Amino acid sequence: MNPFTPLTRQDALNTWADFLPKVAAYAGARNSVQPGHENVSRLSACIRFRTLLEDEIIHDTLKTHSFRTAEKWLQEICWRRYWRGWLETHPQVWSLWRRQVRELKHVLPAETLARARAVSAARSGVDCMDKIARELLETGYLHNHARMWWASFWVHVEQLPWELGADFFFRHLLDADPASNTLSWRWVAGLQTPGKTYLVRLSNLEKYAPSYLRENATGSERLADDIVSARVIQDTATPGAQALVQYPTSFSQTSKRIGLWMHADDLSPEIGPLRDLAPAAIFSCISNSVYQANYHLSSQRIASLHTVIRDGMERAQAHYGCPATVLAADDQAQALGVWARDQALTDVIAFAPMVGPTRDLLPRLKQQLEALKIPLTLIRRPSDTIAFSFATAGFFPFWQKMSRHLNPTAAAC
Ligand SMILES: Cc1cc2nc3c(=O)[nH]c(=O)nc-3n(C[C@H](O)[C@H](O)[C@H](O)COP(=O)(O)OP(=O)(O)OC[C@H]3O[C@@H](n4cnc5c(N)ncnc54)[C@H](O)[C@@H]3O)c2cc1C
Repeated sequence: MNPFTPLTRQDALNTWADFLPKVAAYAGARNSVQPGHENVSRLSACIRFRTLLEDEIIHDTLKTHSFRTAEKWLQEICWRRYWRGWLETHPQVWSLWRRQVRELKHVLPAETLARARAVSAARSGVDCMDKIARELLETGYLHNHARMWWASFWVHVEQLPWELGADFFFRHLLDADPASNTLSWRWVAGLQTPGKTYLVRLSNLEKYAPSYLRENATGSERLADDIVSARVIQDTATPGAQALVQYPTSFSQTSKRIGLWMHADDLSPEIGPLRDLAPAAIFSCISNSVYQANYHLSSQRIASLHTVIRDGMERAQAHYGCPATVLAADDQAQALGVWARDQALTDVIAFAPMVGPTRDLLPRLKQQLEALKIPLTLIRRPSDTIAFSFATAGFFPFWQKMSRHLNPTAAAC
């Protein structure tokens, strides 16, 4: 197991069992970056791919700690759902970011691109920032504060395009999440919350960075509090919100030959609304060529996708007792169509993919299945439906609604 990032469900459960007692100290401890990162959970990759569910974490937390003791922890757990819910109603922010990543590489001056490459290869000349980049390249994990410092360094000190910095994170973070990553970078750049920009400051590093990041001060004068200032960046994304697409939250099976499509946005179908499904077959797809050609993912990140998908498929096969096939295919939509036809399926069911790479496959996938007259049913977890419906404005109005939902007794007082 990667010491920083558990991936399989068993590793996630072990890590979570170790961390559950530490939840009480989390609010006070979470901001410091410590060697080994024992003060934070390191559960992000499992939660992102849902080899461990937020619902399970919230349930165990409230069984063990009071809401008051665990509030900060619960807030952080809910941040991802807030970002995901927000992106569901602003999908253009994701698609425009992906377009910009492709286009900027052709239109930016050669020296800007060379500098972006040097900074992301841990050669900026600012020692503490280069150590953070190296940690990301080596482990695929960074503490939240290190992500904030480094993103701010990229945007406001190096004055590089946020889109390329977000892409660097997306290619290397094992927990890379289209919503948390894109929207956190936009927040650091001052685009997500009007009037709010996150600035990296030496005084903050001195307070929260571990000694290994501070021992060599080379280049740190560029991070001095009175030197770093916010760069004003124009938002190219159209700000309007679309209506949240509604999906059913339950399913009653009428067909015998139903196929379950499993993808990286939710790898625990055995828990929740699809638990009692009786599929004839289960299918998932791994696409190294797409991971490399379209997203330029690091080999460590590709390996982690293989691990989580295979883990999810093994659990699903054991739970449903039917064949589970992981295909390696360049064209996932076509592969799913061929599989559905060969299995003589009458229906395909899946969790609704969230805005991001899997959602981008949907139009072609629907087309393939429609040509075969096989309906595709998409289901959303009831808890996502509730959380996403709260994510209409900023995080704090979201949290007011969410905390009343999680802790109805306090709301009644
Ligand atoms: C620039 C930037 C990019 C980021 N990119 C990603 C990303 O691609 N994927 C990702 O999972 N997180 C991302 N985050 C959010 C956050 O940094 C990570 O979720 C967190 O550091 C993961 O480590 P952990 O599991 O040890 O966190 P813990 O502190 O143990 O938190 C527990 C869980 O709460 C959630 N969480 C905590 N902080 C945040 C946050 N700020 N935003 C959203 N959810 C949070 C995560 O699910 C996390 O696993 C990003 C933050 C920044 C500033």
